Amino acid sequence: MLELVLLFVIFYTWHALGITIGYHRLLSHRSFSCPKLVEYFWVLPGFLAFEGSPIWWASMHRAHHRHVDTPLDPHSPRFGFMQAYSGWLSEKQYPAHIDPAVQSKDLLKDPLYRFLEQDGNLMRGHAVGFFFALAFRVVLGLCFGWPVALVSLLAGLAVLQIPLMLNCFCHIPKLGYKNYQVDDDSVNVWWVGILAMGEGWHNNHHASPGSARTGMRLWEFDLSWLIISFMKKINLVQRVNVASHRQMLKVAKIQQKKKAAAAMELNVKVSSMASQSGSFVKQPAVMQR
Ligand SMILES: [Zn+2]
Ligand SMILES: [Zn+2]
Repeated sequence: MLELVLLFVIFYTWHALGITIGYHRLLSHRSFSCPKLVEYFWVLPGFLAFEGSPIWWASMHRAHHRHVDTPLDPHSPRFGFMQAYSGWLSEKQYPAHIDPAVQSKDLLKDPLYRFLEQDGNLMRGHAVGFFFALAFRVVLGLCFGWPVALVSLLAGLAVLQIPLMLNCFCHIPKLGYKNYQVDDDSVNVWWVGILAMGEGWHNNHHASPGSARTGMRLWEFDLSWLIISFMKKINLVQRVNVASHRQMLKVAKIQQKKKAAAAMELNVKVSSMASQSGSFVKQPAVMQR
């Protein structure tokens, strides 16, 4: 029994790192560069954790950052918890403002990712992902026995929850804390940080999405970053983008200034509209006299 628990932890960590290092920090944000084989090495465990087409995943995630916590964000809990958690997964086609041919040109160059994308047919793309993820467990079962296959399946399904719960819980301000006052609802949630291999320091991530490191404070354990920096040390990774605390503070400050300017502009518009409507209301009264 203890062996199976240990095996679950190993599978869980492997799949979770596939999402955080492969799908997220490498494909979606290009926060580091590496040889194609290393890229596939990290994308594979994410794919086998039912994450679906890498192009679809990265396109939706890039849209999340571009339109964060607005109606165009594919999964902001501001517009309904269940829609943010899983509702957005049932969309049969890309929303009109998300087009991989525009936003994920870099990934479309890869023939393997293009095949997994199934010409943008989301249901077919999800089906292909499910097929390979289940086939992997069948192969495991035939080679190592069905308990191993079952443990792997449970670990994959558990890891499937990581991005789904992160999308919700790390965008509900009262559930976490902010290191950076960026112009969105993102917060750092400690238990998501641990379960998601460092991705739960989501406010840090939104302060600098292109940075390969998300844990900024001493207690913000970021296993994905430790592995990326180790790969850099042994020359498996060529370029790594890392934002400093000071740079992130600067980004937050700029966003705050923009927000204050926009709020001021809105106030001016509202007060000028109010004064116009005031004169409109007064006018008929004058005419009646
Ligand atoms: Zn986010
Ligand atoms: Zn991101």
